[in-house]
Amino acid sequence: MSEDTPSLRQALAVPPGPVSLSGFDPGAKPLEPGDRHAHDDRLQDLQERLWAESTQGGRRRVLLVLQGMDTAGKGGVVKHAVGELGPIGVQYSAFKKPTEEELAHDFLWRIRKRLPEPGMIGVFDRSHYEDVLVVRVHDLVPQSEWEPRYDAINAFEQELVDDGTTIVKVFLNVSYDVQRERLLRRLRRPDKHWKFNPGDVDERALWDEYRVAYSAVLERCSTAAAPWYVVPADHKKYRNWAVAELLRETLVELAPAYPQPSIDIDAMRERLQPPH
Ligand code: AMP
Ligand code: MG
Repeated sequence: MSEDTPSLRQALAVPPGPVSLSGFDPGAKPLEPGDRHAHDDRLQDLQERLWAESTQGGRRRVLLVLQGMDTAGKGGVVKHAVGELGPIGVQYSAFKKPTEEELAHDFLWRIRKRLPEPGMIGVFDRSHYEDVLVVRVHDLVPQSEWEPRYDAINAFEQELVDDGTTIVKVFLNVSYDVQRERLLRRLRRPDKHWKFNPGDVDERALWDEYRVAYSAVLERCSTAAAPWYVVPADHKKYRNWAVAELLRETLVELAPAYPQPSIDIDAMRERLQPPH
């Protein structure tokens, strides 16, 4: 990326200070693809170099955290932005309602088990943040238990960063009206009925409570080590491009490089000569 190309990460990062979600427009399209110079660093190539680096002892890896209300498009982002990467080198994890076993442990227990190995891009479809979102909104544990989790999350993420992980946290910001349209569309299409969860309508009724809970997350857990990005999610194409671009910018900055081979290339070539 040239020095003067504005970065999407700068445009979408949550600024420090008090956060109110009303300040973020779900229909915005900052730095659309057309505004930017195309360049050669394809996501796939960057990822391959990150992987190559790890085969020679490199510790670096990336963790993409996806959060958002139902229909915000976590699935679409995984299909398009992450799909662009191809399956090799990507480790996908969806976090659902915790099992009995998971509930018997600290909330980060199941998360730690799914952290990406060096060279990999880990994708969290929902994450440890549910433990201060759905859990807070539904009083699944008392406030005395969820309140300390913001600090616990920041300490946890700092630990990951210190160990070579670059964390990209994305809140897919869909509007109330567009969520309604998308839920109605699911009802109109028999091939989408499987996606329709009656519980999503219950969550929608708690929209304002979720806005408050998301604002707290963005305010308290957008750190220098692991910032949050708010991606406008009312336009699907923009949303998918933006997440891919955030990943790409992140990898460009990491600048992974193919390791120098330790093989004796001439000797190998010699041994591969046809038989005399
Ligand atoms: P989905 O991602 O739409 O398939 O739904 C997964 C469901 O699991 C959502 O309703 C989440 O709110 C719920 N979920 C994920 N993590 C937790 C958690 N830590 N505690 C309670 N519910 C959770
Ligand atoms: Mg859902």
